[in-house]
Amino acid sequence: MIFCANPKAQYLPYKNEIDAAILKVLDSGSYILGEQDSLFEEEFADYLGASFAVGCGSGTDALVLALKALDIGVGDEVIVPSFTATPTVAAVVMAGATPVYVDIEPYYYTIDPERVNEACTDKTKAIIAVHLYGQAAAMDELMAIAGQRNLRLIEDCAQATGATYRGKKLGTIGDMGCFSFFPTKNLGAIGDGGAISCNDESLAVRLRGLRQYGWDNNRVSLEAGINSRLDELQAAILRVKLQHLDADNAARRLQAEHYNGALTALDMMPAIRKGAGHVYHLYVIQTKNRADFVQYFAKSDIHIGIHYPVPVHKMPAYSGKFHLPVTERLADEVLSLPLYSGMSETNQEDIITSFLSFRGKQQ
Ligand SMILES: *Cc1c(COP(=O)(O)O)cnc(C)c1O
Repeated sequence: MIFCANPKAQYLPYKNEIDAAILKVLDSGSYILGEQDSLFEEEFADYLGASFAVGCGSGTDALVLALKALDIGVGDEVIVPSFTATPTVAAVVMAGATPVYVDIEPYYYTIDPERVNEACTDKTKAIIAVHLYGQAAAMDELMAIAGQRNLRLIEDCAQATGATYRGKKLGTIGDMGCFSFFPTKNLGAIGDGGAISCNDESLAVRLRGLRQYGWDNNRVSLEAGINSRLDELQAAILRVKLQHLDADNAARRLQAEHYNGALTALDMMPAIRKGAGHVYHLYVIQTKNRADFVQYFAKSDIHIGIHYPVPVHKMPAYSGKFHLPVTERLADEVLSLPLYSGMSETNQEDIITSFLSFRGKQQ
């Protein structure tokens, strides 16, 4: 069986280092927000080229904390794509704000700057740019809109840890970057975890308070906060994996190139935005006959992913009346070929062989 993502394959190559790091934490007696968390925050900020990184409990919480630190809540509108993982939107609602959905660019899958402009009202406070599948959203255009309209720009980097835009790491361009360390992500923990990056010290201080009931250094709550901390085990594991992140992302890129080589004649390769350094959290293609494709692969025990079959604005909990034709079409047409660091070359060859034989049968 070849899965679309495989967190165990992202652990095994570093098993010895990770196991040792875990034992060290067990022995330390400090399990939440201790030395490992502080070191991880420093190392992660350095890696990104950001002034600050603040650890928290998940990528969803990272977005909630970012919104709260920017004073965005009840009565405020936040522009989001509907073509994203549910948590992008769940976080806006958790913060008390109202998601306003806009359509995406058909080949890059990220929020369409023109649609963002059209969706702005006098209640709009922020834009969340999701760097979907590991590739940068249209940051130049979005930064220009945010600047002109005095909006905050939050980067949802959950799928794009290590990805770049014009030489800068994603998460360092907008006001804040929000990261997820869910086990399948490019920098995956062995449990939940998240972080927020920023360059503004007062925001970092505020985030550190908000993640623990709004506490100051004397454990006095200055404002209402939440409980969302990175535990020491996850921080220690992430410190190990961070050292290998560039190599892991390079391995993903190499796998993507192998797929590209097979797909180029079919003109089905994912499009690359100019200036974007893609990290291929997912390798996504578009096809009109997805169901046949998925079924055909299932026969060879190859699991094809679909990210995402139901746009968030069509989910009962987060629904709304929005006209998003590109989003709705692509929800029926995208599929994700298996790709993860640690996938064997033979597995990838099997996938490519199945792909080409499927296409052969179609013609
Ligand atoms: C995974 C993900 C999140 C949330 O991450 P969790 O750590 O699972 O809370 C947010 N946004 C996007 C785009 C994601 O893929």
